[in-house]
Amino acid sequence: MEYRKKTTRRLLLFAAATMVSGHFILCAGQDISFSVSMENPNSHTFQVTMLCTGLEDSSVSLVMPTWTPGYYQILDFAENVSNLKAFDGKGEPVGLVQKEQYRWNTDRYVASLTVEYDVLAERNFVATPYLDPERGYIVPGGLFFYPEGEIGSPVSVRIEPPGSWKDIATGLERVKGQENTFIAGNYDVLYDSPLLIGELEELPSFTVRGVPHYFTGYKLGDFDRPALIRDLQKIVQVATDLFDHIPYDHYTFIGIGPGRGGIEHANSTTVSFNGNNLSTPDQYTGVLFFLAHEYFHTYNVKRIRPIELGPFDYIGGSRTHMLWVSEGLSVYYEYLIMKRAGLCQEVELLGAFQRNIKANETRPGRLVQTLAEASYETWRDGPFGGMGDGANKTISYYDKGPLVGLFLDLEIRHATDNSRSLDDVMRRLYTEYYREKGRGFTEDEFRMVCEETAGTNLDDIFEYVYTTRELDFNRYLGYAGYELDRSSFTVRELPLASEPQLKIRSGWLNGSQ
Ligand SMILES: [Zn+2]
Repeated sequence: MEYRKKTTRRLLLFAAATMVSGHFILCAGQDISFSVSMENPNSHTFQVTMLCTGLEDSSVSLVMPTWTPGYYQILDFAENVSNLKAFDGKGEPVGLVQKEQYRWNTDRYVASLTVEYDVLAERNFVATPYLDPERGYIVPGGLFFYPEGEIGSPVSVRIEPPGSWKDIATGLERVKGQENTFIAGNYDVLYDSPLLIGELEELPSFTVRGVPHYFTGYKLGDFDRPALIRDLQKIVQVATDLFDHIPYDHYTFIGIGPGRGGIEHANSTTVSFNGNNLSTPDQYTGVLFFLAHEYFHTYNVKRIRPIELGPFDYIGGSRTHMLWVSEGLSVYYEYLIMKRAGLCQEVELLGAFQRNIKANETRPGRLVQTLAEASYETWRDGPFGGMGDGANKTISYYDKGPLVGLFLDLEIRHATDNSRSLDDVMRRLYTEYYREKGRGFTEDEFRMVCEETAGTNLDDIFEYVYTTRELDFNRYLGYAGYELDRSSFTVRELPLASEPQLKIRSGWLNGSQ
């Protein structure tokens, strides 16, 4: 259905027919729309108006998420809300009672509710809203309330940018015929679709399997634009070939400006990007690794996901023991995709693993915290584990995760005479759990898919997930004719690698069996 937004307030817009016990019941839905203005960007403050109509006779509970998917930390977005006011359909004030830090309830029944508020956005970071005189970055979870129980409702957003800001980059669908207006089918889509507003640069788009891919950003800097687009296309090509399927209609890389970090979304990624820092081959390759990582997440975590990561708990956070799969294996595949795309050589691929090996093996916390625990405790410890003394008690799943991924891949190849690999695990998770079952997988299911692919039990591998047993590098590297020099944390070729070892190595490096 095409969404058409009227300019007048309406009591009812959406209706959903639901089959219950053989009877069709017509349920009145709500119409929820936001407008966002930036009257004084110097103040780092967004002005937001929320309009809800078609409310049933009950008090409305307005909730601001405490975190945003992809960044597994409590950020308490409600702290930045001020000047909160509400009105009914006649313009009469409605009282809002703050029940918790993130929740306000209306003090009386209303059928139509307008809420006005400001959001302070002065932290320039990929997981938080930001506004300055040059651009606005909307992380929707930090700007938009949801009425409790209405996560499934469609939501529209109209942006009113300052005069000279003519561009908006987002994965959201535009509402035809309405300037700067976007629609999300539900709040999960909205909260997964940041918007960047300003005077942006759009690089030439490219297609893979007929699907358009865009790169748009703020202050992209000075670099070889055609080279970046050409190499990005190779990355997308290799990743999509792995699954033989593209799950979105369009995809946008959104460069939010210089800084650190990126967050994956279903049909976009928001990445800190500074083209002025791409002048050396190492810098350039490093950025491609980073972009390959964020892009691979469109499969691994946005679709191939632990069962706990959806539907999201926007208040309490969504905890899982499997972030090592979502993050660690995305690091692993960022490396492999770069090699398979011809964007790095074997020595650089091994070098990437060496950095993870050194980081993990020199961290005392490896003898204290398991990979599963690190996944679960990221909400407490931070994405890279604890810092300072915390490093003695914690690990980073960004370091140990890709190493266990490497062991798992090489074990599957070894156990199947190189006829299967971790690629088969990822493909089956994508096909069976995302496409067919429409859900995430449990820890037991992940292990079952790995073991069925390998055709053998993988107790030894999963000990590395659930215990602090020291990693046996030479057992698994040996399957591909490599060994680890522990004194320098260097991975080198075995001088007399056998034919089966060379076959596994070749398949692993080139992405084939
Ligand atoms: Zn990641």
